[in-house]
Amino acid sequence: MNKVVLITGGSRGIGREIAITLAQKGYQVIANYNKSEEQAKKLKQENTNIEIFKADVSKREEVHKMVEEIIRRYHKIDVLINNAGISESKIFTDVTDEDWNKIINNDLYSAFCTTQEVITSMINRKEGCIINISSIWGLVGSSCETIYSIAKAGIDAMTKSLAKEMGPSNIRVNSIAPGIIDTDMNKCYNQREIEDIKEKIPLEKIGKTSDIAKCVNWLIEDEYTTGQVISINGGWVIL
Ligand code: NAP
Repeated sequence: MNKVVLITGGSRGIGREIAITLAQKGYQVIANYNKSEEQAKKLKQENTNIEIFKADVSKREEVHKMVEEIIRRYHKIDVLINNAGISESKIFTDVTDEDWNKIINNDLYSAFCTTQEVITSMINRKEGCIINISSIWGLVGSSCETIYSIAKAGIDAMTKSLAKEMGPSNIRVNSIAPGIIDTDMNKCYNQREIEDIKEKIPLEKIGKTSDIAKCVNWLIEDEYTTGQVISINGGWVIL
């Protein structure tokens, strides 16, 4: 049977591109979505090998139901891509507990919870690949995005810890930390701001969703990379 891939937040942006790329390679893709039902339905209609599943991945019960149903239908999940996320810009002194809970739940708890629900079946099969989409801001911090940066740094810490714990079960865990990628997430920037950002990037351009999807494809096919944070950022952040 083809490899079964679950992508959280597959309805738009980076997740959607990953879903299409992997479906075209012959993987059976399950693209999770929450609010963007129309885009998700279109994704399914336009692509063979893509199923869609509605679940708010910041909620344990919804994730549990989704994973249970996928295992019932496909008997396994070979690859989990924790991609769902939100971002919000606010000065630190304005951030409320509500903001904290929203961002931590959507960006960090979602990845923890989905991984926990999926990983037992991977351990039992002694095989699995987990890819977490973090961010350069988790590596170097971002002014006015402290909570988002904390969440993404947490994702990378989870990647490294799980890679160590799950290596003996033949489960590889890696992060991809994008720089700026052309999606709805960056709609908040006007053209001048985008040009200013480009000036700071050695490759002088904004990334494409396909830049991330190509790396995901490589990480799935690879057999010896684990615990790594691969930053795809045009040279914006070089550590
Ligand atoms: P996007 O275009 O805004 O898409 C976000 C996706 O996440 C949507 O499919 C959305 O689904 C989903 N999502 C959010 N909360 C969810 C929840 N609770 N349950 C299920 N799905 C949820 O953003 P993007 O740029 O593709 O971002 C994808 C990932 O890359 C995020 O983790 C983001 O932090 C990371 N990233 C992006 C950039 C960038 O420059 N674009 C840079 C670094 C990191 P619905 O619309 O269906 O709710």
